[in-house]
Amino acid sequence: MEKHATSILQCIRCGEKIEVEMPEYKCRKCGGVGTLEYRVDYESLGEVKFSGEFNFWRYRSLMPKVSNCATMHEGGTPLYRAERLAKSLGLSRLYLKDETRNPTNSFRDRAAALMVSNMLDLGYTAAVCASNGNMGASLAAYCAKYGMACHVIIPKHVDVGKLAQMIIYDAVIEEYGETVDESMEKAMNLADETGWYQASSSLNPLVIEAQKTIAFEIYEQIGVPDNIIVAMGSGGTIYSIWKGFRELNDLGMIKGSPRLIGVQSSGCPPIVNAYLGKDESIESPMTRATSIFVLNPPKRDLAIKAIRESGGLAVAVSDQEILEAEQEIAKMEGIFAEPASSGTIAALRRLLDESAIDRGDSVVCLITGSGLKATDVLQTLSKKRKMALLEAEFSTKERILRIIARKRTYGYEIWKELGKSMTRAAIYQHLNDLRSRGLITVQVKNGRKYFTITQRGRRVLKAIDDIKVLL
Ligand SMILES: [Zn+2]
Repeated sequence: MEKHATSILQCIRCGEKIEVEMPEYKCRKCGGVGTLEYRVDYESLGEVKFSGEFNFWRYRSLMPKVSNCATMHEGGTPLYRAERLAKSLGLSRLYLKDETRNPTNSFRDRAAALMVSNMLDLGYTAAVCASNGNMGASLAAYCAKYGMACHVIIPKHVDVGKLAQMIIYDAVIEEYGETVDESMEKAMNLADETGWYQASSSLNPLVIEAQKTIAFEIYEQIGVPDNIIVAMGSGGTIYSIWKGFRELNDLGMIKGSPRLIGVQSSGCPPIVNAYLGKDESIESPMTRATSIFVLNPPKRDLAIKAIRESGGLAVAVSDQEILEAEQEIAKMEGIFAEPASSGTIAALRRLLDESAIDRGDSVVCLITGSGLKATDVLQTLSKKRKMALLEAEFSTKERILRIIARKRTYGYEIWKELGKSMTRAAIYQHLNDLRSRGLITVQVKNGRKYFTITQRGRRVLKAIDDIKVLL
């Protein structure tokens, strides 16, 4: 049996230390909720060598001890060098940590594996969690595999794909609250009343321990990068990664640490506001990046600690920027990322423009989950995108076609009507294109070329009008 670090739970608010088997989430002394964190005793370990297959359980000696091992082959995810995306951003080294490759296509499978292992150890047969989607989907899958009941409390806005996962994995789903903050209250009360295992990601301290393995993997894959960019909802994920690197430091395995950069949507940026010292109240909060839609982030202070201690930054980007980045990642790197984690690329673009990140730096963006879980978001975007393409192509041609649709006319008249804003040669190029597509015809009269719209040309104009009405 391999050597295992001893770990105890300590309250980050009052410092109270408790030795328990069960990962409690309320401090017995100060009453803090979600303030308990595992502290690993490195002295007890001696020299650490990671061994075994490249997957989540390779790091088991640095996680709180579990005897059972619930696994669906989580972790060990690829870290891709994103060369095309890097080139378009003007950056030398960009990597994407692809957590979509986990069993249920998100990083939360790490947490589900550790918590369900803990449930097996302790003899639990039912779990409850409040979730924006990914944690619920992961927990439901692992509970299904190990024959446990899974209850998920979801807020109003949950991505359709994640809901589909919870349903097919046979979780009992209850909608409660506008945002996950309210769902969490409900999950707390339910666990207290029923004795179900508390698996909400902001409450169960094993979640941070499981997620810190992402840092261990990045370290094994490329060493210590200059920057890691992470989307922030509750704030727990960025802190987990910070904790992972800090532990590698404490173990003497690395020196220094990456700067941790946290990203939120400008539609709901409580951690960014707190970091910048801004007024924290958010008027009509909303973001389509539902997995980071958290109004009162339970791990806010820990996220800010990770950012400050690593010399990092916090940035808010718009939903529009997030969705555009999602398409960039897909079309340049072949990865379909969920909106929240696409925000990391939007933030990177911004920070490079502001020279807050050096173009010679190495950057890792954490891709937390698959975009297939959140395809509902893409519907409005794809319409807009198609329209943008249409407009770019048709703007000038469309205007020329509309001029010709009004009356038969010739090149010089069209050039004047367009405000003489372009060369006549360019106008003749457009006229040739329109003609070769069968949208206009030409007749020569008195040495002058007259253009007339065709039936096909009129149908195209009508189709453009119809699309505009739809939008
Ligand atoms: Zn306490």
